[in-house]
Amino acid sequence: MTQNEREIKGKEIASRHDLTRISDNLYHVKSQTTDKEYNVIKTNDKWICNCPDHTFRQVCCKHIHAVEFSLKIREEVKEKNKITIQPITIDSCLFCKSKEIKKYGIRHNKNYDIQRFVCQDCHKTFSVNIGFEKMKHGPKGITTAMQLYFSGESLRNVSKSLKLIGMDVTHQTVYNWIKKYTELLGKYIEGITPQVGDTWRSDELFLKFSGNIKYMYALLDDETRYLIAQQVANTKFKEDIRQLFRDGKKVAGKKPKVLITDGARNFHQAYMAEYWTRPLETRTQHISHIHFKRDMNNNKMERLNGEIRHREKVVRGLKKEDSPLIDGYQIFHNYIRPHEGLEGKTPSEACGIRINGRDKWKTLIQNANKSLQ
Ligand SMILES: [Zn+2]
Ligand SMILES: [Zn+2]
Repeated sequence: MTQNEREIKGKEIASRHDLTRISDNLYHVKSQTTDKEYNVIKTNDKWICNCPDHTFRQVCCKHIHAVEFSLKIREEVKEKNKITIQPITIDSCLFCKSKEIKKYGIRHNKNYDIQRFVCQDCHKTFSVNIGFEKMKHGPKGITTAMQLYFSGESLRNVSKSLKLIGMDVTHQTVYNWIKKYTELLGKYIEGITPQVGDTWRSDELFLKFSGNIKYMYALLDDETRYLIAQQVANTKFKEDIRQLFRDGKKVAGKKPKVLITDGARNFHQAYMAEYWTRPLETRTQHISHIHFKRDMNNNKMERLNGEIRHREKVVRGLKKEDSPLIDGYQIFHNYIRPHEGLEGKTPSEACGIRINGRDKWKTLIQNANKSLQ
């Protein structure tokens, strides 16, 4: 077979979807002549395959070509569906919609300053504070508080830190801000479909809220680290996890091709109920940890553990099961915090959702406010 023929065959395999992405570094590619599946593995930035063609001739076989084509197609689709969320700036008069506006000094509120504008046509002056209207404090203080809290500080520590920059707010006020904006952002984000990959992982955390044991389940996209869904439950029955899997389908608009969980029965039962389907071609493959530890790179497991530890730290700081804080953490994780494993990108950026502006919280809040009016 010539190199050109291998490439054409690879393209055919990719367009027939005769391959399954197991992780960033591992694909299963169906043999075109037997019932076998080959492992195409990335090591030191090079793909290798365990088929005879690659093993004996050391050539770039059709399976590797298939993986490369499939990656290219994924990138193209992602590029096409990219969305960018821009900060909102004032470009017209609030009263007459004229574009002829000019900056006109600063309005001094009790706790913060805001830009004032004057309209050259109707001569009225105005200032706009999208998303932060009627707040006693400005966007900077509020989003700083959110950032500190979700980075792992307690509500009381956030309140103390704000005092250093001249803001006198109680920890209850900080809590109210987080609650208000988490709810607003939650509704807005519901309308956005993240372009997550096809391999998802699920894990559970045991938590104690005022002495009561709770379980927190999470569903993470392996490729982008996007936290697709979370679920807090009193029990660890199949139905609790089933709800998580169902939410995941709703958020992503699809089910995964591969689901990785630990070996617990409840995960498998929930998988059978939500992701197992009759035609084999559409069935989600279920891999449990025991299996996973043996034949895949441990690197990814390490990263997943880091993920859990950070989430655990934040959630363990809660006194009671408090959904605004738990939901807020999900937004922080997906949209705000750059991820080490993604070369500094946020999971949402890896999913094709970019948020511009210096303060991502502010950009999100402005857009949420505008779109939900
Ligand atoms: Zn091969
Ligand atoms: Zn005007």
